[in-house]
Amino acid sequence: MSTLEIRRLRAAVGDKEILKGIDLTVSSGEVHAVMGPNGAGKSTLSGVVMGKPGYTVLEGTVTLDGVDVLAMAAWERAVAGLHLVMQYPTEVPGVMLDDVLTEALASRGRPTDDLDAILRAEAERIGFDERFLHRPLNVDLSGGEKKRNETLQLAVLAPKIAILDELDSGLDIDALRDCARRVEAMSNESAAGHEPLGVLAITHYNRLLHELKPDRVHILAQGRIVTSGGPELAAQLETDGYAAFAGVEPEAESSSALDDLFSF
Ligand code: ADP
Ligand code: MG
Repeated sequence: MSTLEIRRLRAAVGDKEILKGIDLTVSSGEVHAVMGPNGAGKSTLSGVVMGKPGYTVLEGTVTLDGVDVLAMAAWERAVAGLHLVMQYPTEVPGVMLDDVLTEALASRGRPTDDLDAILRAEAERIGFDERFLHRPLNVDLSGGEKKRNETLQLAVLAPKIAILDELDSGLDIDALRDCARRVEAMSNESAAGHEPLGVLAITHYNRLLHELKPDRVHILAQGRIVTSGGPELAAQLETDGYAAFAGVEPEAESSSALDDLFSF
């Protein structure tokens, strides 16, 4: 079993402290949802854990199976078994999806002989057009196709722990259902000798969690986890909004977010 452990994590961008002491533990087979309003620090959390440049860790630790993750380069974290599905997947002209996955598997010491067959099977399962398998990564894909593509990569790489930063943003209902179901299945199955996936699902909408069933729900507001609970907490959020939870003050960013169900 694998465990990602985040302890007392404080992090800043420039001199602005954004994460103000986060504690979270995610183990194989568990789905943890982190929900919070715009500007709460959700993407910052995913970036700091994965090693995106531009953040300063002020305090705390992040370990994967006891090994210090913060001391590793981003690619080392990926090889160690951490995977980030980005909120806005990057287009990489000139770099083919199948080449990326071949290199990624090889760097993990995993076989690549059957990759074509695995890719085709995964593409069918996730509803991703096979034509895109040999095209530049994410280039000219719709929002939904990009997220299907990211989910396919996640399934092929089979990391230990996946962080999904708003898997549901930019997705239509069908793509959301297909992607969420695929991740849910990964969290339940030990595929090809891998332990079931541990998931940190960052979202501000309950709808993702209809298919991807969380074991625990954490509310992140202003850089802190203000409440944790079971799946019922996500349903309660939908009716009460974030303002009902202690420590959540209205933020300027939230009031202008027309697409945010929970805006103040
Ligand atoms: P969320 O994903 O919860 O909407 P973010 O983690 O993206 O929130 O942002 C949290 C806060 O940190 C926001 O106030 C945002 O403006 C600020 N922030 C994030 N990244 C940067 C950055 N690179 N430069 C300056 N401020 C940033
Ligand atoms: Mg974000």
